[in-house]
Amino acid sequence: MSSRRVVYVTGGAQGIGKGIAAHLLGEGYAVVISDIDAEAGQECLEELGAGDALRFLHSDVRDESAVAGSIAATVEAFGRLDGVVNNAGIADPFLGPVESLSLADWQRVITTNLTGAFLTVKHAAPHLRRTRGAIVNIASTRALQSEPDTEAYAASKGGLVALTHALAMSLGPEIRVNAVSPGWIDVSGWCKRALRRPADLREMDHAQHPAGRVGEPADIAALVAFLLSPDAGFITGQNFVVDGGMTRKMIYAPD
Ligand code: NAD
Repeated sequence: MSSRRVVYVTGGAQGIGKGIAAHLLGEGYAVVISDIDAEAGQECLEELGAGDALRFLHSDVRDESAVAGSIAATVEAFGRLDGVVNNAGIADPFLGPVESLSLADWQRVITTNLTGAFLTVKHAAPHLRRTRGAIVNIASTRALQSEPDTEAYAASKGGLVALTHALAMSLGPEIRVNAVSPGWIDVSGWCKRALRRPADLREMDHAQHPAGRVGEPADIAALVAFLLSPDAGFITGQNFVVDGGMTRKMIYAPD
């Protein structure tokens, strides 16, 4: 069995998940990225330059046999599993008016963002029990507040927050389960090369945040790493908002 602790990050080939993978590698973990995008996964292997400490598995969180196979491959490669980050998601919340929202689109979002986490935990839990491991689910501030035309996404993330406390009750005391709910995180520099672009952010986008700026993947990764660590041993079942203070801001219409 490897002495390095091993974390499995779904949707880890781009965006927040890639930032989490980079941070965990920097802390000395071995990391397995699973992602539906093979091109992005291969680029991660090149760009994160972590050698044997990093693996990429081409896998779809909606497909139970693929999920089971990826978890098994992780344990086969490293001999252990200490952490799971359920990050894979369809990140665009806008699917149009509920009156015209198709059942297929609703199911696509719920299956990816919520069912994918259930399937991953189902197959990872036996291994995490052995290491007294931890799970972090990447939810969203949209579990707590909404804009119009975001029903499927909001429901998926609200479900993920509820799944978090349910799992904490079922899997404790061996496994801790928490959620992190990001606010606005700019991932433009963390996409695969074909999609990478300069950040398109206005001064007012930064200024509207009480913390004075839009977030970046490192802001989420730092908390995820803490929640996976033994220092967080008394924390389970919780949802932590990381949004530069946006959900604490009282808003009135201007005069
Ligand atoms: P992203 O689109 O940059 O990255 C998501 C990754 O998940 C991609 O690499 C994609 O290929 C992968 N993925 C998508 N469907 C998958 C599937 N079925 N199986 C495996 N992998 C799959 O998105 P992001 O902005 O980095 O978002 C990551 C997570 O954070 C998502 O769950 C999103 O809902 C959440 N989130 C993001 C923000 C934000 O502002 N960026 C805010 C709140 C929550």
